[in-house]
Amino acid sequence: MIEVTELHKSFGSNEILKGVNFKVKRGEKVVIIGPSGSGKSTLLRCLNFLETPSSGFVKVEGEYFVEPSKKYNEKHVAKLRTEIGMVFQRFNLFPTMTAIENVMAAQMKIRKKSKEEARKTAEKYLRKVGLIDRMNHYPSQLSGGQQQRVAIARALAMEPNVMLFDEATSALDPELVGEVLNVMKELADEGMTMVIVTHEMKFAEEVGDRVIFMDKGVIVEEGHPKRLFHFPKHERTRAFINKVEHPEAMTGTYSNDELPVSMGKRKELGRIPATSNL
Ligand code: ADP
Ligand code: MG
Repeated sequence: MIEVTELHKSFGSNEILKGVNFKVKRGEKVVIIGPSGSGKSTLLRCLNFLETPSSGFVKVEGEYFVEPSKKYNEKHVAKLRTEIGMVFQRFNLFPTMTAIENVMAAQMKIRKKSKEEARKTAEKYLRKVGLIDRMNHYPSQLSGGQQQRVAIARALAMEPNVMLFDEATSALDPELVGEVLNVMKELADEGMTMVIVTHEMKFAEEVGDRVIFMDKGVIVEEGHPKRLFHFPKHERTRAFINKVEHPEAMTGTYSNDELPVSMGKRKELGRIPATSNL
């Protein structure tokens, strides 16, 4: 379904991805973990050509975004991109549109659907994420978790073959994380092909078929979640997993009351800080 070959990406002289190789099979759930700054978002963005790789290739369903030695073709890229849905940490809904209008917009603009068709599809996916009763609300009238579910519905309404999630729950208050993970879990159970960047290790272990640990622009190791989380082969993987699972270790001498609120709350739930600087 997705094939990434010798992918390099530099910003100026700063090489962020240093030769990444991996494949995702149809229906597979691949989870990417790794410290902040290791290139996870850049990698996801290269998967749908939001970033143009410096070198190397991305193939989606047997088709190259840009054929080796051929020129960038905007139309071709746009077409392939519609097969890939992406959900970001920040939901980026249009504030002046209601939930359903947000879900309809791209369908009409990019998929060239009529308003009636787009509305029908939007209703289907808003129902799926449990928000049909909120469809006429504006983003400001919805909680963060609800906004993220609208963003998921918006991506699904394009009927993509693959869904990419880039820390979809990292910006949410702890009590809202579960509802978004539940929607993602349901999608996974239905057989959607998914590439998920997350710090939610329990979710990763439950849903992932494979986990990739990235650090400093390379894949350090990958494997079955049970193996990778419990028997990491590399010291870097072990150190990272330890940090995520024991965030208190990072704060040294802080007592519980001194922890920043977000960290404290997360800790109670056994999660890591919202804006993890891991
Ligand atoms: P992660 O998602 O793992 O935290 P990112 O892919 O966001 O990592 O970033 C990796 C590095 O690439 C960071 O040091 C970041 O500053 C840099 N970077 C990302 N996007 C850009 C950009 N558009 N221009 C310059 N540097 C960037
Ligand atoms: Mg990121």
